[in-house]
Amino acid sequence: MSLPAETVAENLRRILARIEAARKGAVKPAPFTSLVAISKLHGEDTIRPVMEAGHRIFGENRVQEALAKWPALKREFPDIELHMTGPLQTNKVREAVGLFDAIVVDRSKLAHALKAEIDKSGRNPLVFIQVNTGEEPQKAGIAPQDAPQLIAEARGLGLNLAGLMCVPPFEEAPAPHFALLAKLAAEAGLDRLSMGMSDDFETAIRFGATHVRIGTAIFGERS
Ligand SMILES: *Cc1c(COP(=O)(O)O)cnc(C)c1O
Repeated sequence: MSLPAETVAENLRRILARIEAARKGAVKPAPFTSLVAISKLHGEDTIRPVMEAGHRIFGENRVQEALAKWPALKREFPDIELHMTGPLQTNKVREAVGLFDAIVVDRSKLAHALKAEIDKSGRNPLVFIQVNTGEEPQKAGIAPQDAPQLIAEARGLGLNLAGLMCVPPFEEAPAPHFALLAKLAAEAGLDRLSMGMSDDFETAIRFGATHVRIGTAIFGERS
């Protein structure tokens, strides 16, 4: 069911062009917008054409799956930047810190576990704090009103804090969620915003996204 290599490479070119166009059309875009190509549930045959086209920033949602796919690819392409974009369990922190260059944190306990592992391993991944902007009970992320406290805690621990991340509720217009994330980041003096997926990344860029996380529009539907 995976798309042919040429289709995936063409999708990548189109998405990069749309990111550029959205940046040009934005009143106040971020200084840069990086594409994090979300390759979860896609195999190496689908990922490789994107790498061969020169793209190097990828994202995965599960530690186990990423461990099966990425160590060999990272040896082959040492400049790969791998983002963990899913919720992380504290018992997976050691493996996650060993593999990923950026990690999402959404609670104090995870921030402390991450700090302990960073001290042990000497690796220091970038951290995005996930905010549950829609306050959905089933979704990962810190409640907006508790975000300043977690940001302060991450800073106090000396984590390599980059910025904030969100996944708006599926059934709502995303713009107010992107606006809220941008506001929380500005209030905290954080300049990176990981927001926007296949269906809404152009809106996210208008609100200052520095990282858009796009899977389906590049790799096709996930089985
Ligand atoms: C799956 C996923 C994406 C990519 O979603 P698409 O709609 O396929 O572009 C982005 N961010 C997170 C956190 C995801 O889980």
